[in-house]
Amino acid sequence: MGAPAFPFLGGVAMSEPCPGEPGKVAPVVDRNRCEAKDDCVRVCPYHVFEIQPLSFEDRATLSLLGKIKAWVHGNRQAYVVRPEACRACQLCVEACPENALRLAPYSVR
Ligand code: SF4
Repeated sequence: MGAPAFPFLGGVAMSEPCPGEPGKVAPVVDRNRCEAKDDCVRVCPYHVFEIQPLSFEDRATLSLLGKIKAWVHGNRQAYVVRPEACRACQLCVEACPENALRLAPYSVR
């Protein structure tokens, strides 16, 4: 058996659906990958995501390819609107067809 994927969850069994405590980790969206396909919105049991218009600030951080992708997809992307509700189940990470999501400790963002 290997090391737990999220040792900061305190040894919570990852085989259960959404076993973690809320407020420990939250998803981070890679703005250069997200194409607003909405799988994260559909799979998250805790309504952590919404698809929203890409903010001016986030658009400014995109690579040239990211700007083109954003334009093609209507300048909309997934936003983490309830980060405190995330329970680390990783359903969104696994569902994203663009590999645009990762979980990070909530307290450091
Ligand atoms: S890991 Fe993803 S799907 Fe699971 S609770 Fe957190 S945001 Fe929702």
